[in-house]
Amino acid sequence: MQGGSEAELKPILAPASTGRAKCRGCARPIPRGELRFGERLPNPFAEGETTVWFHPVCAAYKRPELLSRALRETSETVPEREKLEQIARTSTDQRRRPRIDGAERAPTSQAKCRHCHEPIQRGSWRIRLVYFQDGRFTPGGFIHLDCRAAHFETDDIFEQVAHFSPDLSDSERAELRQAFAPA
Ligand SMILES: [Zn+2]
Ligand SMILES: [Zn+2]
Repeated sequence: MQGGSEAELKPILAPASTGRAKCRGCARPIPRGELRFGERLPNPFAEGETTVWFHPVCAAYKRPELLSRALRETSETVPEREKLEQIARTSTDQRRRPRIDGAERAPTSQAKCRHCHEPIQRGSWRIRLVYFQDGRFTPGGFIHLDCRAAHFETDDIFEQVAHFSPDLSDSERAELRQAFAPA
């Protein structure tokens, strides 16, 4: 097999042939038959390549440039194409946005905010950060919810934070929305 360069590994946008793949962006399964986004990477352990799969909306948030490319190149009919394009555009322009990995209440006061470097009080909301490297997302610490506007250079991130917080109960989600509301 020829050793191809990374540039030749075209992203995939196609219906899922099985329901076994988990989304790399949110860790939830991708139902069979639903459109999924595949990022192809050189296999680090052997010849050839490997593919990591995403829900299209998760890729729009977390892998925006590649998802935009896949949208331009695909011949598939893409549900909510305009919404995906818009999310991907915003996530490309605001360069820290792809790092958003949801929100949670801090279980301890040990973590320091990656933005202001002050401790994050136990029980207060914090935003999880991740970094994409070699096909996976690595935990990148936390920021205070209140540091969000300064860190991301926009305050308009509730939908994205909520999207990547699927484990919150309805009441926790309502509290999170409240925490985002202007004082
Ligand atoms: Zn997902
Ligand atoms: Zn902070």
